[in-house]
Order: sequence, then structure tokens, then C-alpha cells
Amino acid sequence: MEDLEQLARHLGCHDAQVIAVRNIVTAPWVFLKCKYGCPYYNNCLVCPPFSPSLEEMRLILRDYNEALLFRADSSWLIRYLATELERAFLNRGFVKAFGLGSGPCRLCESCDTSRPCQHPTQARPSMEATGIDVFSTVRRCGWEGRFVAEKDKSRDFFGLVLLR
Ligand code: SF4
Repeated sequence: MEDLEQLARHLGCHDAQVIAVRNIVTAPWVFLKCKYGCPYYNNCLVCPPFSPSLEEMRLILRDYNEALLFRADSSWLIRYLATELERAFLNRGFVKAFGLGSGPCRLCESCDTSRPCQHPTQARPSMEATGIDVFSTVRRCGWEGRFVAEKDKSRDFFGLVLLR
């Protein structure tokens, strides 16, 4: 598993660790943050209500034992890394590898939710869009995340690749 973490760092992650999927926390309250206050709710194909529901995600997580949690300094980089790592792990025999990013998708100028996704191999839902409590998951895995940008300091963004 160490080589997977090294590969992730080589591709641009600030930090990466293989975690047990039982440490991924899901919670109903996460969707409140999407539904009330986020302009992308119902306006982006990888965001709620289009993304997997909490119930679906809990079922999906039962199919996995391990995942790679990673950190970078922008949501754009996280989305890129989620799909690059997913591909790299698939090529190494992790046939169930699936990446989850951070924040809404900004690959198109605007997301036309009446049509199929224009970049389905690159667009991935964020962890939070599927009901994952990113704050609790990160802390349970032993990391201190900077979730709010402070003056002159960037904040952390997190992604996940479900492995096996
Ligand atoms: S790639 Fe385009 S169509 Fe697909 S989710 Fe992202 S913005 Fe929407």
C-alpha cells in the first residue's frame, strides 16, 4: 500500500494515506449544506440531487474495505487527481477503483443538467455530494484539516479513491 501512497504524492497530492473504509463517516446532515446555501444544488450533474444518495453511498461503501484519502490545496487539483489516481489504480488491477473529488464540477462553463454529462470520464462527485462527512473522516484518520481559509493561508481540500 505504501507504493500507492507514493504514487499519489508523485502525481501531486500533498499527502495521501490508505485508510479502512469503516473509518469513512457518512451523515444525513451533510446534505443540508448542499441544499441550503450552495448554488450548485440541482445545477450540477455531480451534485445532489443527481449524485448518489446517502442510502446508495452507504450500500456502495459496503463493497469496499480500503480507500486512499488524499489532500491538495485546490478543489480543481483534487478533481484532477481523483480521476488520474482512479485510472492509475485501475491499471494496477484495482478494478473497482473509483475517485471522489471536492466541491462542484467546473469542467464546463455551465452544467446543462437536462443533458448527459459532457465529460463523464473526468467528472466525479465530491465526497460531500454523496453524504460523506469529510471533517469527521479526516480527523478519524488522524489528520488535522484546515477547513476554513485563514488570512494569508490556504485551506485544505480532500479527495478519496475507493480501492477494494
Ligand atoms: S463535466 Fe460538464 S456536464 Fe459533466 S458534471 Fe461537469 S460541468 Fe456538468
